[in-house]
Amino acid sequence: MIDRERLERRMTELARIGGQDTAVSRLGLSADEQRARDLVGAWLSKRGAHVRRDAAANLFARFGGEGKVILVGSHLDSVPEGGRFDGALGVLCAIEAVESLVDAHVRLRRPVEVVAWADEEGARFGVGLFGSAAMFGRLASSIGDRRDRDGVSIAEALRALGERGDPAAARRDPAELAAYLELHIEQGPRLERAGLPLGVVSDIVGIYHARVTIRGRADHAGATVMTARADALAAASEIVLAVERIARARPDSVGTVGEIAVRPGAKNVVPGESLFSLDLRAARDHDGLVREVLTSVTTIAGSRGVEASVDELARVPVTSLDPKIREVLRHATRSVGVDAPELVSGAGHDAQNPALSGVPTGMIFVRSTGGSHTPREFASVDDAALGAQALANAIRELAS
Ligand SMILES: [Zn+2]
Repeated sequence: MIDRERLERRMTELARIGGQDTAVSRLGLSADEQRARDLVGAWLSKRGAHVRRDAAANLFARFGGEGKVILVGSHLDSVPEGGRFDGALGVLCAIEAVESLVDAHVRLRRPVEVVAWADEEGARFGVGLFGSAAMFGRLASSIGDRRDRDGVSIAEALRALGERGDPAAARRDPAELAAYLELHIEQGPRLERAGLPLGVVSDIVGIYHARVTIRGRADHAGATVMTARADALAAASEIVLAVERIARARPDSVGTVGEIAVRPGAKNVVPGESLFSLDLRAARDHDGLVREVLTSVTTIAGSRGVEASVDELARVPVTSLDPKIREVLRHATRSVGVDAPELVSGAGHDAQNPALSGVPTGMIFVRSTGGSHTPREFASVDDAALGAQALANAIRELAS
C-alpha cells in the first residue's frame, strides 16, 4: 500500500530545494540538483538500496540481486522558475512505489533500480535529456565542451559535482535492462478535461530543433526603394507564417518559432540579418513535417533574394512505447480503478532514450492543472498516490 503521508511529506521536502513558494529553480548539473539527489539517495539507502552515481551525475538506487533490471524513475532538475512536479513527481512516485513493495515484503525475482536522471531540461547547457542520453550512449562526442552563459563547460560542471568530467563513461548496456518505467505529470490539459487522474503514453512526438539564419542586405530605410531590398526580417516573417500554415495542415503536428533576432536592429535600417529558432514536433510523419518546412525556407529565401542557412541542433524521431508494457500499465491503472486513456506526449522525455535503444519502455501520465514549466503546475497528492500505486502494481507484475 502507498503511504500517502510519506509521499506528501517528501513532495514538500524536495520542493524546498531551489524552491520559493510554489516555484522551483533547480537547474541540471547545479549544486541544488545535487542536494536533491543526496536527499533522495539518503531516503533510499536507509531502506537498504545500494545507491550510486554515474559519470553523468545520474543517481541509481538498486534493490535486489542478479538479473535484468526494472528501471523506474524520472528527473530532479527543473527549468528556471519552474514548478514542483515536472520530473520530481516521477522520482518521488518511483521511490514510493518501490518502498511500498519493500514494506509489503514482496519478493522480486528481478532487481529494481530507481533512477533520478541528471539535467533532463537542458536549461543551462541547451542539451535536453542529458543524463539518460549519456547512459544510453546517445550524446554527441564533444558534448563535454559545451558551455553555459558564464563559460562553464559541462565537463567542468560535472567535475564540480565530484565526477571526472567525462559523461560518456556513464554508458551502460541496454541489454542489462528488462524494462524502463516513468511516471510524469501530463503537461497538457487532456486528463483534466476528461476528469481522469491517470493516462498511459502511447507515443512521444518526434522533435526537431534548429537555428535558421537569413542573410539579406542592410540598407537605408529612406533611400532604398521597395523593389531594391533584400529584407531579412520580411523573409523570416514569411517563413514564420509558412511554419504555422504547414503545421496546421498536417495531423498531430506543431511548429513554433519562439525566438527571433534582427541585425543590425535599428528603426531606419532595412534588416540585413535575421536569426530564429525552429521547433517542429509531430506524432506521425515527423520527417515529412521537417522536410516540408525546410523546403519552404529554401523557396521563400530564393524568391526574396536572401540567403538561408539552417543549423540543426537536435532531431529525435517519433518514439512508440512498447505495446506489452502499455498493456501492463493499462492493467495496473485499471487495478487502481482508473480507465486510463492512451495519450501522445507532445513533450520530450528521458523515456525516449531507453525506448530508442530497444529497452521495453512505458510511461504513466498524472493529471496536472496549471500547465507545466511554471510555478502554477499542480498535481494533487490523491492523484500522485494513485499513480504511485499503479506504478507499484506494474513493477510487481514485471519483476515477480
Ligand atoms: Zn520533465
